[in-house]
Amino acid sequence: NRRWVLASRPVGIPTAENFRLENAELPEPAEGQMLLRAVYLSLDPYMRGRMSDAPSYAAPVAIGDVMVGATISRVVSSLHPEFKKDDWVLAYGGWQDYALSDGKGVINLGAHPQQPSLSLGVTGMPGFTAYMGLTDIGQPVAGETLVVAAATGPVGSTVGQIAKLKGCRVVGVAGSEDKCRDAVEHAGFDLCLNHKDPDFAEQLKAACPDGIDIYFENVGGAVFEAVLPLLNPKARIPLCGTVAHYNDTGTTPGGDRLPAFIGTLLKKRIRLQGFIIFDDYAPHFPAFRTLMTDWIRQGKIHYREQVIDGLEYAPGALSGMLQGHNFGKLVIRLADD
Ligand code: NDP
Repeated sequence: NRRWVLASRPVGIPTAENFRLENAELPEPAEGQMLLRAVYLSLDPYMRGRMSDAPSYAAPVAIGDVMVGATISRVVSSLHPEFKKDDWVLAYGGWQDYALSDGKGVINLGAHPQQPSLSLGVTGMPGFTAYMGLTDIGQPVAGETLVVAAATGPVGSTVGQIAKLKGCRVVGVAGSEDKCRDAVEHAGFDLCLNHKDPDFAEQLKAACPDGIDIYFENVGGAVFEAVLPLLNPKARIPLCGTVAHYNDTGTTPGGDRLPAFIGTLLKKRIRLQGFIIFDDYAPHFPAFRTLMTDWIRQGKIHYREQVIDGLEYAPGALSGMLQGHNFGKLVIRLADD
């Protein structure tokens, strides 16, 4: 049983030294448990937070513990009444080939799910994040302008597409020309701008002649700075993530912008609300999955996946994602079906 454990806490971008690959004994399920073999492992930005022991909404991974992560797994053997051998499940198996589970929080996908890895992306946690953050906090109205960054990732891409279904004008922000082209040509965004362009802030201003009504916040950093002066009165900001800051090591240069920030919120009566998807919205998950599965079947929502073969590549792939090297929902394939 190969498994990646946390070897040390990163300072800045995680490096190979922060992880250790171990080989452990295959565990045996006890009564009420099952043994799972991971086929796909999801890599997500929140994992950077779990590597740190700074206070957060979830406990950190302890040094020496297996890295956390959602998996699409198959049941190898089961002493659990609700799961049978060979069932596919969505579980939190972590960065390892095999995991024991007592079934808590595990979703049974049955014997023959179609494209099971989508349950880690567009029909799973990131898609659900996009849907709830946009509809409950963003409250889109037809004709409004929405801006979202990380526009080709599973959250941003889904946010923009649902906003299009609601009749909004959607301006994406992404980190390369290829990503921007994909957001427009495949995901149907009206426009997509590259945040690495030196004149990005001016481009954004020109792209939003009527201002911004909803800014779905995935990244923070320079994108948020460019957005702030363009926000309309009564704009909504679902505060989902700030991936531009996850590897920060000190204070941001450039002086204190907090007074300008809170002043803008006040004067423009902006509603900014953070959310943690399952803490806030878990009861809505089954209905979301049904809706999103229908939308995908009807061709209304497009998704993009990047599959990397081999558990050994997980640490590098996570570091790469935090720097924008992924293109679409990043998953590691550990085994053939
Ligand atoms: P992505 O697959 O989109 O990966 C992160 C992307 O962030 C990168 O590919 C990169 O895209 C972009 N990025 C990285 N650094 C910067 C930067 N400095 N400026 C602008 N963009 C940057 O991730 P997800 O779709 O899985 O997640 C998106 C966000 O949603 C994250 O912040 C995540 O933490 C958050 N999230 C929050 C949840 C919640 O419950 N609140 C639940 C799930 C996700 P590019 O190359 O385009 O710049």
